[in-house]
Amino acid sequence: MSVVDSALAQIHQLQPYQPGKSVEELERELGISNADKLASNENPLGCSPLALAAIENASADIWLYPDANAWNIKQKLARKLGVGEDQLTIGNGSNDVLDLIARCFLDRDAEAVFSRHAFLVYALVTRACGATARVADALPADAEQAYGHDLDAMLGEINTRTRLVFVANPNNPTGTWLRRDALERFIRAVPEQVAIVVDEAYFEYVDEADYPNALEWLNVYPNLIVTRTFSKIYGLAGLRVGYAVSSPALCDLFNRVRQPFNGNSLALAAACAALDDDDFVTRSRDANREGLDLMRREFDARAIDYIPSVGNFLTVRFGNNAMQVYQALLERGVIVRPIANYELGEYLRISVGTPAQLEHLFAALDQTL
Ligand code: PMP
Repeated sequence: MSVVDSALAQIHQLQPYQPGKSVEELERELGISNADKLASNENPLGCSPLALAAIENASADIWLYPDANAWNIKQKLARKLGVGEDQLTIGNGSNDVLDLIARCFLDRDAEAVFSRHAFLVYALVTRACGATARVADALPADAEQAYGHDLDAMLGEINTRTRLVFVANPNNPTGTWLRRDALERFIRAVPEQVAIVVDEAYFEYVDEADYPNALEWLNVYPNLIVTRTFSKIYGLAGLRVGYAVSSPALCDLFNRVRQPFNGNSLALAAACAALDDDDFVTRSRDANREGLDLMRREFDARAIDYIPSVGNFLTVRFGNNAMQVYQALLERGVIVRPIANYELGEYLRISVGTPAQLEHLFAALDQTL
């Protein structure tokens, strides 16, 4: 038996996460410049100038280890969110937080429940722990929240082996969301010994009146964990900062498995500064709303279907031609995201871009179709 064979069986069965293609990679492959990436739900406005200044300031100290307890960012987040510092776990992106939550609850005898078409990292961290993934059927294509989470189906997958449930609100790549009453009813129905993650990576983008802030339920449901990120509206995807908010007791567990120094000093400084720039967040939210409206109008005008989305992306139906459209857009310098690995092979996920990027997208699309 080789050393590779002796690695854990569950690791052999994993498929690595497939990130969006980078601008550099495409430009190198095609020998072009001016490619636009609308593939990873990044903020097309960049990040706050306050964050850039903070990185510059902090850079003289990078020979020192970062603050292992991330005191500054926890102070700021606690004040902003109205929670205790002892309820916050900082991660190297929220993916890191999802991973350490899974490691606290899952082993070979355990099961985790999530929806079909839900964010792929739930499956990845579940299977990496050797646990069984119980994938609930999603809502049908003709539902108001097409391909969105079916909370009753998810409840139906919970049994005595269930240790963890993942809910994305809104979900990526569908952009679908859950209403306050329905989500709270679900959380109440989940057995109290089962941990529930409500992943709010796109929280700051959502405008809908009935959209819940799951932090408000933390005091009522001790098994609830809310995750958020600085990668989306704060525009710090490259620095990797995310966090979980939970009861202090769960937070204490997460801190036991968390790598010391998982948040680097430049990232923590930038995230602190970004929290002070409400104006940047407001501009980003407004630009996203306008970009989404424009994308809907342009796809409507071409009679192309999409899944209604409240995030910073739109998942668009190209049918059997999806991969040809993806390739043709690449050749015209526009990178979008195929999502066959989400069992949505007829769709491409397209992040909201600036007006210029969207003009590039639709010009490329019109040449393609
Ligand atoms: N949750 C969801 C639903 C996401 O779409 C993403 C980003 N793709 C993440 C979590 C993780 O983001 P990050 O690790 O950059 O915080």
